Amino acid sequence: MDLIAELSARLPRERLLTDVASRERYRHDAAAWTPSAAPAVVALPETLEEVVAVVEAAGATGTPIVPRGAGTGLAGGANSTEGCIVLSLERMREIGPVDAAERTVVVQAGVLNEDLRRHVAEHGLWYPPDPASRAISTIGGNIATNAGGICCVKYGVTTDYVLGLTVVTADAQVARIGRATAKGVTGYDLTSLIVGSEGTLAIVVDATVRLLPLGGREDRALTATFASLPAAGEAVEAIARAGVVPAALELIDRTCLQAVQAWQDLGIADDAAAMLLIHLDEPGETGEALAAEVEALLRGAGATGVELASSTEEADRLLLARRLAHPALERYGSVLSEDVCVPRSRVAEMLGRIEAIAREADLTIANIAHAGDGNLHPLIVAPAGDEAARARALVAVDRIAEEGRALGGTVTGEHGVGLLKLAGAAAELDPAELAMHAAIKHALDPRGLLNPGKAFPPVGT
Ligand SMILES: Cc1cc2nc3c(=O)[nH]c(=O)nc-3n(C[C@H](O)[C@H](O)[C@H](O)COP(=O)(O)OP(=O)(O)OC[C@H]3O[C@@H](n4cnc5c(N)ncnc54)[C@H](O)[C@@H]3O)c2cc1C
Repeated sequence: MDLIAELSARLPRERLLTDVASRERYRHDAAAWTPSAAPAVVALPETLEEVVAVVEAAGATGTPIVPRGAGTGLAGGANSTEGCIVLSLERMREIGPVDAAERTVVVQAGVLNEDLRRHVAEHGLWYPPDPASRAISTIGGNIATNAGGICCVKYGVTTDYVLGLTVVTADAQVARIGRATAKGVTGYDLTSLIVGSEGTLAIVVDATVRLLPLGGREDRALTATFASLPAAGEAVEAIARAGVVPAALELIDRTCLQAVQAWQDLGIADDAAAMLLIHLDEPGETGEALAAEVEALLRGAGATGVELASSTEEADRLLLARRLAHPALERYGSVLSEDVCVPRSRVAEMLGRIEAIAREADLTIANIAHAGDGNLHPLIVAPAGDEAARARALVAVDRIAEEGRALGGTVTGEHGVGLLKLAGAAAELDPAELAMHAAIKHALDPRGLLNPGKAFPPVGT
């Protein structure tokens, strides 16, 4: 049966893109280094019924579907495969009425994270999950990857805010799963199962998300430079030991600092081995006392310089080095963003091992890290057009994953397995756990039409 005919029979023609340029545009996500092929067609449904129609057409023709939000994924999860349908939710951008009493809202999958945050802020509410890509990534993509972010050290990750979902299953049924209440334990927790399933179990069409009050917080930021990585690691541990939970605790390593400083003069000292950026959001005197305590802990761990900002603007200036890290490195070539997560106490040791891998592979590997939750983002740089360096970079990805696991960590803290981390996931997942993955996939998608080959490796690899 002809796929385009099946789709055209069910959907307005303008929902379908079949020209070469459009198909190329939807070929891969932001992990351009991972394998991809042009899809047969891109479908852009605007309603739940149209999502169902796409899944029906896929079923009728046995065509795989690659669900897609904004394509900012960093693991190749939204990469298209030969002849597939890319099902993009980008046109489903409605936000329902905010329930201020229950502090919930229903949001469609294609809404950008930042648009949701802005919308609920008008009602005095806050949607905390804050991936650095929040201005460009969708809620559907955030849910499918269980996205983290900078404030998740204190406020948790996407799954902590998803109460219920409307999904379209592989056999084109609409399922409303989960709840809209503050508590609820009826049946299996299918909502949590779908969150983080990378489009392999169902298509997320909308979500009921939990919100927090916006007020009652104040911005304070501290930055501290260190002459050695172990000293920065000691500071992270000292903060944890003292029972302080910052709203953000980020680390930038020497390579990153030098790249930022070479691009835009932020006055970063040449001999700084690492910088910690700490955001505290407790209000008033409590916040002031906490900032003083953190400053003492930083100095006690050997910080060579500490700066404190007590306004949002000042805090933004101090956090600039973190925001500039990625673009600063892109000046040297294409950047592959890694995502290993280790126990907090092993962050400094892991950074040391990454430095060794960079030397072995003869590559620049810079690091930014959500140090407060042990999640490192080594940024591996390969000069443009240097195919040998790209090949070495992909080997370095596997080496970093290996070293992370050796320190008791996991191969992906927040970006997902996609295609990039299949080898690492194969090494990490227990055989019995992997068999459970296969059984769940088979139960929910027996024909393997939803994002095949992503999120977990085949059993026996
Ligand atoms: C500059 C930059 C910074 C980033 N910072 C962070 C960060 O701080 N934290 C973090 O966690 N990630 C970060 N990311 C990665 C990325 O933005 C997140 O993974 C994000 O959640 C992806 O959203 P998306 O809409 O772009 O999804 P896509 O990339 O389109 O898709 C991601 C995955 O979700 C699936 N999917 C998408 N929509 C649906 C749906 N409606 N139903 C079912 N499956 C679906 C896709 O098949 C794919 O497997 C960053 C990326 C960039 C480029």
